[in-house]
Amino acid sequence: MAIAEAHSLHVRNLSKYYGAIAAVDDVSFSVPRGAFLTLLGPSGSGKTTILMALAGFVEPSAGDILVDDRIITHLTPEKRNFGMVFQGYALFPHLTVAENVAFPLKVRGASKADMAQKVTQALDLVQLSQYADRMPRQLSGGQQQRVALARAMVFSPDMLLLDEPLSALDKKLRADLQWELKSLHDRVGMTFIYVTHDQDEALSMSDDIAILRQGKIVQMGGPGALYDTPRTRFVADFLGKSNFIPGVVIGAQSGVVAYQAGGLSLTQASSAGAAAGDTILVSLRPEKIGVSLGGEDMGLNRAPGTIAGWSYFGSGVQFKIATALGEMTVIRPTWRSDIPLETGAAVTLHWDPDASVPVQED
Ligand code: ADP
Ligand code: MG
Repeated sequence: MAIAEAHSLHVRNLSKYYGAIAAVDDVSFSVPRGAFLTLLGPSGSGKTTILMALAGFVEPSAGDILVDDRIITHLTPEKRNFGMVFQGYALFPHLTVAENVAFPLKVRGASKADMAQKVTQALDLVQLSQYADRMPRQLSGGQQQRVALARAMVFSPDMLLLDEPLSALDKKLRADLQWELKSLHDRVGMTFIYVTHDQDEALSMSDDIAILRQGKIVQMGGPGALYDTPRTRFVADFLGKSNFIPGVVIGAQSGVVAYQAGGLSLTQASSAGAAAGDTILVSLRPEKIGVSLGGEDMGLNRAPGTIAGWSYFGSGVQFKIATALGEMTVIRPTWRSDIPLETGAAVTLHWDPDASVPVQED
């Protein structure tokens, strides 16, 4: 499909009130042309409201929306030329796959020849050419959602808006379609704005993620940066699993903060200033903790403990370890796990100063 040009999107101080409730509360962000941005947040955090304001179905209470340098805040949905895909497949049940995909072109008054060519291209793009003459009910859920994608892209929209398009699908199919969507995005080069409450989905597909909470963006960045350096407890907790260690700073020296927690002396690599006596909250990812049975090869931070429980999930084992820091969650890969799956076994947890990150309580 010929994508004429990708566009950038700029949202400035966008708010939407329903009575006293701020569904969207002073949100600003930019998406470079051709990027894949995900709005990630729990249910009710304002994701759909933002997307609907972008699409023109919700009138903002305040703020502006720009495509490149053009203000579109008050344009009707048709004038925005955005493609949309929702959770429900929303295909026309009485139209064939090809007729469904042709629909946006028909509305725009495209010629028959033009329509036929673009529909073929769009169906090729989602690998459904051989299903052109089927009815939607003859397709699986994943295939129906791919038809919806083809229909949303067939008219070369300026941007594609997707609201939890995979959430009705089962886990395996969802993972397959995540790959497919990402590769589709890479091939067409169109700007994608994607909404989900699923952290794995956000991490696996996005160039950038904006994390929403109660109508506000609490942090935005690339998947790796957000995962490794969450700024707050909420972000660390929402994006993956984390242990939290509350402590008191003993002192700081050359980028390393020494602190005390649960009677243990620990260290934390940190550029942030911390003075003796300050409280500190440290986020430590379960897979960044080593587990040792003896004294061999341990990181600088050590916490003795006993195995309180474990659960096997194929590629790894999740342990709950009782320590002076409270119960710690640890994840180790199965293929080289030499830790006994035995409740009550004594182990030592260890980790490097830069394995953890200080976060704000919120
Ligand atoms: P999300 O998509 O993240 O689950 P929504 O954008 O749907 O969140 O909703 C954000 C908040 O705004 C919620 O508290 C929701 O109840 C409220 N809300 C959304 N739409 C309306 C509406 N039409 N009228 C009143 N409140 C609404
Ligand atoms: Mg929603």
